[in-house]
Amino acid sequence: RAKVGGRNRIEVFEPTFRSDFERNTVLSNDLLRAIARKEFFPVYQPLVDSSTQKIVGAEALVRWKHPTRGVLPPAMFMELAQTLGVLADIDQAMFEEAVKKRKTWERMLQNPPRISVNISAERLKSPSFLSTVQAAGVQPNTIIFEISEAVTFEELDDVSKYNLDALEGLGVEVEIDDFGSGRASILSLLEMKPRRLKIDRNLTAPVVESEQARSLVASILDIAHTLSIEVVAEGVETSQHAEILREQGCSLLQGYYFSRPIEETAFEELLQSEQARSARWPTQGLGHR
Ligand code: C2E
Ligand code: MG
Ligand code: MG
Ligand code: MG
Repeated sequence: RAKVGGRNRIEVFEPTFRSDFERNTVLSNDLLRAIARKEFFPVYQPLVDSSTQKIVGAEALVRWKHPTRGVLPPAMFMELAQTLGVLADIDQAMFEEAVKKRKTWERMLQNPPRISVNISAERLKSPSFLSTVQAAGVQPNTIIFEISEAVTFEELDDVSKYNLDALEGLGVEVEIDDFGSGRASILSLLEMKPRRLKIDRNLTAPVVESEQARSLVASILDIAHTLSIEVVAEGVETSQHAEILREQGCSLLQGYYFSRPIEETAFEELLQSEQARSARWPTQGLGHR
């Protein structure tokens, strides 16, 4: 299946394999070589301020440019990467790329967005984690780590806990991703004291139709705000979603309504045109797209 689209789309080929076994066998060897061959690259999806609808952040999401099979999404290779023990290496490559990209954007733009990168349990517990973060020379408030709620606090070993605590000191914020989808939601807030949480799209998707979903989101916002935690909503697919979630108090929004994840050049064009436009029309954001 190949999706070919306008400049906001990238071509994604999702090759079909007869079984997971076939796919894993075929991809394993390739995956072990992919880091050294620099085949992983980020696509970026905007995070938008819910009241101005301007881009204030970018989530970097990994893609694998496979030499013969096209561009593969994480669902095609993340589990395998974990099994093969290379997930932490992928995360680190993405992090280094994000730090570099942020420095480029600082030169290029008046208001460079912060970049969020996803990190796995494997990377968080790696003994070299803190030193690689330190070595990257991250300026405060420029990079955010997203840790999926699926990586519950109980599963974290002492090294991971220590690393999490030390991150703030290095100027890197921690955000809980996929909030509400896992097992330890409330507890993880107390134990991790994240700066932000991102409500899982399975909770935000039904807010348009379901009164109960709206109540649930309202309760999460209540709890978060009590703890001074900023709330992001993911999976914002329509203007109704955006409007409801803004009214409810989510300060940041992310989803296909604003933009799909797009390649860096397309993302940079988007940023430059938005910042040029807002220099003339200070209140106009992405909303008319
Ligand atoms: P995530 O971190 O929760 O990222 C959001 C996912 O939802 C992305 O899928 C994004 O394309 C998709 N999405 C965004 N807006 C919408 C929307 O409005 N509707 C719908 N239906 N989907 C939306 P993607 O890029 O395929 O990534 C899937 C997951 O793979 C991520 O979920 C994250 O858990 C993981 N991942 C991606 N990049 C990395 C990475 O560099 N390291 C690690 N450890 N995990 C990564
Ligand atoms: Mg994420
Ligand atoms: Mg998610
Ligand atoms: Mg997420």
